Amino acid sequence: MNEHEIIRWLREENPDRLAELFRQADAVRRERVGDAVHLRGLVELSNICRRNCLYCGVRAGHDTIERYRLTADEVTHAARLAAEFGYGTLVLQAGEDYGLEGEFVADLIRRVKKEYGLAITLSLGERTETDWRLWREAGADRYLIRFETCNRALFEAIHPPVGKNDLGFEGRIGALRVLRSLGYEIGSGVMIGIPGQTYADLARDLLTFRELDLDMIGNGPYLPHPETPLGRAAEILAKNPETSPAALHPLLAEVGFDYPISDDCVPADNLTAFKVIALTRLLLPDANIPSTTAIATNDKHLGRVTGLQSGANVVMPNLTPTRYRALYEIYPHKSATTESPEETHRTAIAQIRSIGRYPGTGPGGRTHH
Ligand code: SAM
Repeated sequence: MNEHEIIRWLREENPDRLAELFRQADAVRRERVGDAVHLRGLVELSNICRRNCLYCGVRAGHDTIERYRLTADEVTHAARLAAEFGYGTLVLQAGEDYGLEGEFVADLIRRVKKEYGLAITLSLGERTETDWRLWREAGADRYLIRFETCNRALFEAIHPPVGKNDLGFEGRIGALRVLRSLGYEIGSGVMIGIPGQTYADLARDLLTFRELDLDMIGNGPYLPHPETPLGRAAEILAKNPETSPAALHPLLAEVGFDYPISDDCVPADNLTAFKVIALTRLLLPDANIPSTTAIATNDKHLGRVTGLQSGANVVMPNLTPTRYRALYEIYPHKSATTESPEETHRTAIAQIRSIGRYPGTGPGGRTHH
């Protein structure tokens, strides 16, 4: 599939042709990675972040939210639940929080591996190679770091630099190669429907996944957070559907989003997210592809299962202690924010069974064929 064909699929609206795309992707998924759905227990380790990404609700500049960092005991409790629930992997995710010191994280990794034998995925943002090596040596298996968009100008418009140890556009993609060279399985992805993102941008994102030969690819729709510059920009765009987005540039710049937005942007909806899942499965048949929380947030009833039926084979139930969940508000109305880990687990299993699939066992790493 080349860029032109991918763009055609991303723009496709004919229900019969789309049904055929999803059927094909589902067939490739079954043939290459089977009917097992791998469960990764997600622990949102800290909502402290030094960055000011224009879209994210836990950006440093959002100064009215309460910040938290889990203790080692809280994390190991979540790991115990993951093991009891039969999951093979624990995912530790956080804002870019340098207060999570290298040795603290390394100890956590060793403890979880020793006590529960779980595979560990880290999603802790841009850190030094020293930290990444230390964590790999402590036993971490995988690292997730989305490049968000492969359009440099758009990337730079939504990611103000933070100075020290900021990898920048090329470095963020380059980080994936560094992490692979350290022996991690690598995962990345983008947000779908970032204001200003064109179909060509998104098609190039998909081709970049293949070029990097990613082991895991997680994508989700961009969800506007009203307390962020991009959320305010999205609101202006939504309130002025009759005005050309290009003409709204000065207003958008006023709220902090200074980007020459095109009139032909990708919608931030689940249908596009499902197309992206299906195309990703066709491009990287044996990759691990989650049906993500953003998709489940957009459609609480059918989002997750439809993702699983469009080519995805992974879900990441949230095991963060309930009292912290609402604080990890990267976007509003995030799914499962009021549930206990047990409820989140039961829902995930019921959804997987409802479509004739079953929970995977073992670490669920990428299996090359
Ligand atoms: N700080 C780490 C990093 O940047 O890699 C990991 C945590 S970060 C909150 C995880 C992901 O959340 C980001 O890569 C981004 O794609 C997603 N995200 C943040 N705000 C979002 C929003 N408003 N809508 C959709 N996804 C969002």
